[in-house]
Amino acid sequence: TVRTRFAPSPTGFIHLGNIRSALYPWAFARASQGTFILRIEDTDLERSTQAAVDVIIEGMKWLGLDHDEGPFYQMQRMDRYKAVLADMQAQGLVYPCYMSVEELDALRERQMANKEKPRYDGTWRPEPGKVLPPVPEGIKPVLRFKNPQGGSVVWEDKVKGRVEFSNDELDDLVIARPDGTPTYNFCVVVDDIDMAITHVIRGDDHVNNTPRQINIFRALGKEPPVYAHLPTVLNEQGEKMSKRNGAKPVTQYRDEGYLPDAMVNYLARLGWSHGDDEIFSREQFLQWFNLDHLGSSAGRFDEAKLRWVNAQHLKAMDNTELATLAAEQLTRRGIASDDRLSALCGLYKDRCDTTVALADWLAPHYADVAPKAEDLAQHVTEAVRPAIAALAERLVNVNWDKASIAAALKETLAQFSLKMPQLAMPVRVLVMGTPQTPSLDAVLELHDREKILERLRKA
Ligand code: GLU
Repeated sequence: TVRTRFAPSPTGFIHLGNIRSALYPWAFARASQGTFILRIEDTDLERSTQAAVDVIIEGMKWLGLDHDEGPFYQMQRMDRYKAVLADMQAQGLVYPCYMSVEELDALRERQMANKEKPRYDGTWRPEPGKVLPPVPEGIKPVLRFKNPQGGSVVWEDKVKGRVEFSNDELDDLVIARPDGTPTYNFCVVVDDIDMAITHVIRGDDHVNNTPRQINIFRALGKEPPVYAHLPTVLNEQGEKMSKRNGAKPVTQYRDEGYLPDAMVNYLARLGWSHGDDEIFSREQFLQWFNLDHLGSSAGRFDEAKLRWVNAQHLKAMDNTELATLAAEQLTRRGIASDDRLSALCGLYKDRCDTTVALADWLAPHYADVAPKAEDLAQHVTEAVRPAIAALAERLVNVNWDKASIAAALKETLAQFSLKMPQLAMPVRVLVMGTPQTPSLDAVLELHDREKILERLRKA
């Protein structure tokens, strides 16, 4: 059965480019009744932070990318890595290397001067009949992996097709530091073996690690998993997305009013396609997803497109469900709502692309309004004030339904020989703080009578 994983390093706040590398392995596991595992690669102690871990976990939870196992933390698995290292040492798969940093630098310089690719030259690699240099005193060795010599490493990548690296290009990788701590490529392989990962779906910045990892798999007597290396996500300027050039942490999109399903929809399309389908639900996505339609060219993030996708999902959303999200946005503003909220969501959702924009519409129903001075000046003229007062008087006693409110408006228009916009615009400005709203009777019906009267009378 399928077992996939997402293995982020908590060294910066996870952004949309990173989380897409969680979406596909999650979707593949769900689509194949498999298992999705979360593994936090926190061995870079200087750069890893708990805050970054929190954003990963919160962001995945928000997007509904639930994991079946984990989170595992590599720092908690050190004993296991060390045990495997000891095993490998016993089997002669690794060897100590005493080359100092200065010697390595000198070697690199010689190689660069000869226009060769810098690589470790195998000085300390034991071979039958070879005499190794005398072990220097006071130096703790690194452990190097005995990479196979000759031949090549080949895999059928689900995105890139056949990839081949000649073993001569791969030098003997350091897999433990002088203090005995294991290095990155080695931990990944031990984890992928222990967690029985069948498909590794990750960013293509790891392609150069893959042949090294495959050689370690084989040295440990295991077959490597299937690999799919996803092309990078670019930002709107065409650069690789990163925190440095302004990529936002995923959780910020929640705060900005994006819907999880819309995010999943948008991110899915950043590197995978199902014909020309642009808007789809999570369920449809999971039905359609497979590794055969992953794209091989870099997706480009486009915020306007994301807003559009979000607007489509918002419109299609059930009003009661939407009300829950809208209530959260209102709460952030210190505004309490009531049981009219779902009906109000239905009234305004077509005009909004985020739940933040929706909350802008809802707020005047529950909190004070502050109409702009220019709107007041333009619409609430001296001439129309008597009509506004008369409307307020009528609204005191009418039945509070759309038809009765519409009738009160009409009677007031007739009384003062006004056209609808001449009365409706000032009323909108006073009651909603803006001259553009959906049909006024619908807005008023879902509004609070006392608040309306107070706002009209104030004028
Ligand atoms: N920790 C790596 C990263 O965040 C991913 C490693 C992997 O997926 O194998 O780039």
